[in-house]
Amino acid sequence: MLREAGFSFGFSVDIHPLVEGRKLWIGGMEIPSPRGALGHSDGDALLHALTDALLSAGGFPDIGSLFPDSDPTYKDKESTFFLKKAMELIKEKGFRVYQVDLTLILDTPKIAPYYPKIKEILSSILEVSPVQIGLKARTSEGVLFPPTHPAIMAYAFVVLKLA
Ligand code: MG
Repeated sequence: MLREAGFSFGFSVDIHPLVEGRKLWIGGMEIPSPRGALGHSDGDALLHALTDALLSAGGFPDIGSLFPDSDPTYKDKESTFFLKKAMELIKEKGFRVYQVDLTLILDTPKIAPYYPKIKEILSSILEVSPVQIGLKARTSEGVLFPPTHPAIMAYAFVVLKLA
């Protein structure tokens, strides 16, 4: 029924271990941290979850199918590239982004100081106002990610509307 009203929804999750010797990219921005996300691309879990949610809402295959990590083209690729590609695809189908809600789970560092900058980056790529983007972070209190195995996890929920 909502699809008939021109709305489509997408949800996704991503997780990456945090290791020394990598940069920490979150939402298209480098965050000062002694550890970064291990991954084939830049390991930006927030952008990967968001990209997958967009693709899902648009009825496309997931990020791993469209941009396989077996392809050296995507090694250390900035994840804004994948998000921009997903935007191109959904726009070709006549969709625009209506609302986005994002949640990070991360024990350290604290991300709240970077919310405004991350929202600015995302609003530019998603072609929405920052008020259409929900962004918050929670810690796992060491329950999900023991100190010996730090990680970053991101949830993304998106609503698309036929333009
Ligand atoms: Mg990922």
